[in-house]
Amino acid sequence: MADEPVTDVRERLGSLIDDLWDRPCDVCVDISAEDEAIEVGGLVQERLSADPSLAAVMLRLDKTHDVGPVTRRSLAVAEGLAGSGGAETAVGDGAELPGRSTRFRVIEFSCPDCHARVLRSYYDERCLPLCPDHGVMELVR
Ligand SMILES: [Zn+2]
Repeated sequence: MADEPVTDVRERLGSLIDDLWDRPCDVCVDISAEDEAIEVGGLVQERLSADPSLAAVMLRLDKTHDVGPVTRRSLAVAEGLAGSGGAETAVGDGAELPGRSTRFRVIEFSCPDCHARVLRSYYDERCLPLCPDHGVMELVR
């Protein structure tokens, strides 16, 4: 029965969990059973933005149970679904196909002071990535 909360959380997070990821995750993001997908997505986004070399993080429930990995790819998919813009309505019900690179555009940001880099799948000027030491990053053109 110990796995029941994990199953609930996994269902709620849906496409945020990347079931195709089969490598170990060095970094855990702690969540609680009450966290909504949008909050968890924000936490993961923050963590991934802070470390451009990170490809995935493991979500951990109540600091004990591994829920599943979130990758930059699954985060982008989940954000596409959660966004109100509706530009990605064709993404469907979690039945994504591989090889969506034609639609997946990576945008690069860099810190003007230390040149730390962050990759994002979207550009939102209200929410630019932050360098932990120097603040707002700039779009790399
Ligand atoms: Zn910096």
